[in-house]
Amino acid sequence: MISFYPGPSRVDDRLPAFVRDAHRLGILSMNHRSPEFMALCKKTVGLLRKKIGLPATYPVFFTSSATECWEIIAQSVVEVRSVHVFNGAFGEKWFDYTRRLRPEARAVVFGRDEEFSPSLLAGTAEEVICITQNETSNGTQLANTVIRTVKKNHPGCLVAVDATSSMAGIRLDYTAGDIWFASVQKCFGLPAGLAVMAVSPVAMKRISAIGEKKHYNSMVLMDEMMAKWQTPYTPNVLALYLLLRTLENRSPMSAVHKKTKQRFEAWQKFFHASAKMELLVRRPAARSYTVIAVKGDPGHLADVKLEARKKGFLLGEGYGSLRDETFRIANFPALKDTEIRSLMRFLSRHV
Ligand SMILES: *Cc1c(COP(=O)(O)O)cnc(C)c1O
Repeated sequence: MISFYPGPSRVDDRLPAFVRDAHRLGILSMNHRSPEFMALCKKTVGLLRKKIGLPATYPVFFTSSATECWEIIAQSVVEVRSVHVFNGAFGEKWFDYTRRLRPEARAVVFGRDEEFSPSLLAGTAEEVICITQNETSNGTQLANTVIRTVKKNHPGCLVAVDATSSMAGIRLDYTAGDIWFASVQKCFGLPAGLAVMAVSPVAMKRISAIGEKKHYNSMVLMDEMMAKWQTPYTPNVLALYLLLRTLENRSPMSAVHKKTKQRFEAWQKFFHASAKMELLVRRPAARSYTVIAVKGDPGHLADVKLEARKKGFLLGEGYGSLRDETFRIANFPALKDTEIRSLMRFLSRHV
């Protein structure tokens, strides 16, 4: 079964060999306070900068999930108020989780086919602006320039960006935001259970001034530990090792971006020619490069999903309220050209 689910999704082909190496090399029982672990952690961070493009000046942290990153930001970065701009279910979930800890959080909702206008944030008095760069639930994305404009318009605010389903799949303008995070089961081609967070020097200064230390993953404590290439808790060392190994052989981000975009364009063309299915997002500029959301008659889509499964393709269900009228196709780097062609061949019998 080839998983085109937009997370967890198809994993890197070399994982079985890397897992065997991890066992052989003693990684599975590695002590997380040992010099060996510190070297592994340091090397992984270096590779994230080199291969993914995380800025050299942004400290990098490891957590267990993107959801945990939402909570860490609410705890350690937002003192009183954050504002959440979103057009879909993941942005809304981030808002909901934050609201439980910071009841004054505010939501600014825009339409799926509406252009995100920076003026939506006019008059923002909150400390942190929370943006979902790639909305996995409906297949939309925000351009780098939008995020840069938001930061420029609100120089006193920190800008936090959920890039869970785009980081490592497309080029992102990391210096335009202050906090970026993603879990690895999307564009990194790895199993779930690890997330990466990068934080600007300005945000680090704010975090240390706030000095929140009530939680094991308070950012002040995470920062103290990361200064020694460690984490406050025993981390998933295997997941870190797999991240390191897959990053080592990764193509440069510019090549990955180009390929992701070309594949997106091929999918766009494919559905443009279809009579029974179309892309959910009507405005081309709003379409995500990494998550393709396809709309159609619910009865027809149910047949397609079922038939696909029989033929060995796992399609992503529609998310939340879009469950029946859409399905989603991951356009993540670990998928192979041949696999995408096979799925297109299969779908071309149902268009
Ligand atoms: C998948 C996803 C999440 C949740 O990731 P977890 O690792 O399950 O916490 C959050 N935000 C976006 C945009 C996602 O695509």
